Amino acid sequence: MSDCIFCKIVDGDIPSKKVYEDDSVLAFYDAHPKADTHILVIPKQHIVNLYDVQAHQWPLVQQVLQSVQRIAEQENLVGYRLISNNGAQGGQEVFHMHWHILAGDKLPGFQ
Ligand code: AMP
Ligand code: ZN
Repeated sequence: MSDCIFCKIVDGDIPSKKVYEDDSVLAFYDAHPKADTHILVIPKQHIVNLYDVQAHQWPLVQQVLQSVQRIAEQENLVGYRLISNNGAQGGQEVFHMHWHILAGDKLPGFQ
């Protein structure tokens, strides 16, 4: 989508600090970290959020979560919190599906 900042990051039109990439998934550091380690994991394909997932796209959601597992190993995270905000009422500000990996001391959100 032309006006989506995460699609622009996928296309390389907006710079990012990449953590992980494969054919379907990209992970990069959040520009405004809310934890010691704050990584965003996204499908390269534009999907708005979980409300928007079509039947044929569920394998892609699985690939995103498998990437979370790989990233946790790759980055030697001893524990992490995984958050996905869905819809404006759920706190979503960027409407391209993403999963927040939060790690380190004093994590925000639920305790
Ligand atoms: P959410 O509120 O779940 O939609 O989260 C969107 C996240 O995207 C926020 O944590 C922002 O800090 C982050 N963000 C926005 N623009 C960028 C960008 N250009 N590069 C990296 N992270 C970004
Ligand atoms: Zn997008």
